[in-house]
Amino acid sequence: MSHVESKLEPSRAVHDEIIESGKGWTHLVQRGQILRIVDLEGNQAVDTLFYDAHDPSERYSAVDTVREQGNIYLTTGTRILSTEGNVLCTIVADTCGRHDTLGGACAAESNQVRYAIEKSYMHSCRDSFLLTLACCTRDMSKRDITANINFFMNVPVTSDGKLTFEDGISGPGRYVELVAERDLRVLISNCPQLNNPCNGYDPTPIRVLVWEADALPLDG
Ligand SMILES: [Zn+2]
Repeated sequence: MSHVESKLEPSRAVHDEIIESGKGWTHLVQRGQILRIVDLEGNQAVDTLFYDAHDPSERYSAVDTVREQGNIYLTTGTRILSTEGNVLCTIVADTCGRHDTLGGACAAESNQVRYAIEKSYMHSCRDSFLLTLACCTRDMSKRDITANINFFMNVPVTSDGKLTFEDGISGPGRYVELVAERDLRVLISNCPQLNNPCNGYDPTPIRVLVWEADALPLDG
């Protein structure tokens, strides 16, 4: 795990917004800008996808990101790679220390299989992704939803290779910060899941902030 704090001041952010649990969000982040996602109350799961803003068919690739860094968890220094092998963004600060990209997004289907048939009608990240793309973009749809990142979510792999959803390792106020290496569309579902321990069975709000590239204070 790699804990690195940021020197950016929230008062200098050009965008600052609270996203309630169960809500989707999309935003264009320009090359050089810095995006921070804050787990306000702790143990939240923030399902996230990144796309090239000018060509959304080039998008986050979990498999390329994991293979190139030789590690299944994401943290400071992780280069978030695209389906074309380009760097979309880089994690430059992280006070949680580990983020999942294997567990995927909750959906009506997985809610039924994992929990109970009657859970299929509960809110899910997949629905939030689809609703957000439908309302906020012109040219993106179901085909653009692929394997995502789960910021702050704890999905350890056991010694015999199993994935387990565990109680979170994040806490109130922990954050992850990324610098955009190209113009990005960011798509977030602040997970509404009520059926697993990754968020303590209690989904909570997050805060997203964006700074210009020159917002870092000068050293000294
Ligand atoms: Zn979810």
